[in-house]
Amino acid sequence: MKVAKTVEEIRRIIADARADGAGSVGLVPTMGALHEGHYSLINAARCECDFVVVSIFVNPTQFGPNGDYREYPRSIEDDLAGCETHGADAVFVPSVDEMYPAGFATTVGVAGLAESMEGRCRPGHFDGVCTVVAKLFSIVAPDVAYFGAKDYQQAAVIKRMAIDLDLPLRIVVCPTVREPDGMAMSSRNAYLDDEQRAQAAALSESLHLAERLVREGKRNAAEVIEGVRSLLGEKAPLGEIDYVAVIEPDSLEAVEIIERDVVIVLAVRFPSARLIDNMRVDVPKASR
Ligand code: AMP
Repeated sequence: MKVAKTVEEIRRIIADARADGAGSVGLVPTMGALHEGHYSLINAARCECDFVVVSIFVNPTQFGPNGDYREYPRSIEDDLAGCETHGADAVFVPSVDEMYPAGFATTVGVAGLAESMEGRCRPGHFDGVCTVVAKLFSIVAPDVAYFGAKDYQQAAVIKRMAIDLDLPLRIVVCPTVREPDGMAMSSRNAYLDDEQRAQAAALSESLHLAERLVREGKRNAAEVIEGVRSLLGEKAPLGEIDYVAVIEPDSLEAVEIIERDVVIVLAVRFPSARLIDNMRVDVPKASR
């Protein structure tokens, strides 16, 4: 497995791989502190692509001024070992100066999709994400890029960006990998103490409740949201709810009456970490 720190190095590694016959290159963009969620993306890339590139870059521009950029967990040695174990061919680990050299002045932004939910709670977040992902796409020129459904809105925004900018690649969104108690794996889970961690299981529990309510025939989104909020209030009192929403899977628009498949999305701020989760709920045709 090759490790590259500069744009020139990773481009050369990929050019050599293509010259040696690699027909498809897969990219897995990450911020490191890798866990099984990230590894599931690497596994998917490994299954589908000839050459697998993982990027590890804690991107400062997607953190707010009061965000956790400085504290964000970093574990590069373990991450490199994990990438190797999971069959990555190359890892791109650029410095901040490599990605944002003096004079850097461009921002890539997606209107509409990026303005609600995470975009509203974290102003500028998606501009940072889109700019860095557009750069990674330009540097690596992958045929396929892998993202997690855990960050549902992020995946939708990136798909939109790729379409709008005519980027010649396919975006694959892989299912959320969860802990045994249902909690979505996240690098930020490490911030939680035992009490917060125990309460955080209520996020996925509340999504299952929402799923059950819809399956049982509840069609009024406000009632589903109320069910989720009251479960969270009861079981996760340390968490402040940023939002709970029932959205249309592609447009991400809020749904009032549930007549088709929807995604339930939520964000909860615990004292030590802000957590997000979501679940798609399919509405069988017969019960629409
Ligand atoms: P991050 O390092 O948090 O920026 O995440 C890098 C990629 O891994 C993103 O596409 C995330 O959506 C994805 N990811 C993070 N956690 C999970 C998870 N629990 N299951 C699946 N994908 C995940």
